[in-house]
Amino acid sequence: MKTSVLLFLSTVLIAPYSAADSTHHWGYQGKRGPAHWGRLDKSFATCQSGLNQSPINIKQGFDTELPALSWNKPIQTKSIINNGHTIQLNVEPGSILTWQGETYELKQFHFHTPSENQIDGKSFPLEMHLVHANEQGKLAVVAVMFEQGHVNQQLQQLWGDLPKADEQQALSHTIAWQSLLPAEWDYFYFNGSLTTPPCTEGVRWFVIKSPVKVDPQQVAKFAKVLPTGTNNRPVQAINARQVLK
Ligand SMILES: [Zn+2]
Repeated sequence: MKTSVLLFLSTVLIAPYSAADSTHHWGYQGKRGPAHWGRLDKSFATCQSGLNQSPINIKQGFDTELPALSWNKPIQTKSIINNGHTIQLNVEPGSILTWQGETYELKQFHFHTPSENQIDGKSFPLEMHLVHANEQGKLAVVAVMFEQGHVNQQLQQLWGDLPKADEQQALSHTIAWQSLLPAEWDYFYFNGSLTTPPCTEGVRWFVIKSPVKVDPQQVAKFAKVLPTGTNNRPVQAINARQVLK
């Protein structure tokens, strides 16, 4: 588990530079689409056999006292990458999320259109995933939904120039990534997986309930640099899992 997660993280970071490697052998449509991921590569088997897969449709949550999310300090974004599956922002090290006594460092964040998770069957035009890992390689993903509205100024700064597939760019404007979060951080919590191959399970998911705004033209600009215009895995069965809120 630890090895595969670390492999995943390094794949995510290295993928943009080698168009021919196996990370490009999957996609979002046709024979390489989500319905086939589990059979494309032995290492992707969990995509098909896993019982705790992400994303999900969050229908109702079990009321409980969840601890507040908190990060240590504002940290700047560093570079922007189009890895052929999404637009990913890398950040300067040092963003530490503390949750129930565990600490997770933010590694990168990226986007999906339309949203992958749904809330009460509702899909959103855009979803942001903040991918964190602790020292053992366990992952924690914080998801933020974007609903249609005014221009999102923070995104506007980050997405001034979106790289084409397999390109990395320095950012013309860096921002403190926390400025992309909504004012309220109440969240749904559940156990899930990576939403891309190898679909590794054991990922802590935090879906923030309050959405932020995005202008449809901003979403369209993002969709335009994706190979097939969308990059959302369909919702997966909840099975025995419980969503906490
Ligand atoms: Zn994601």
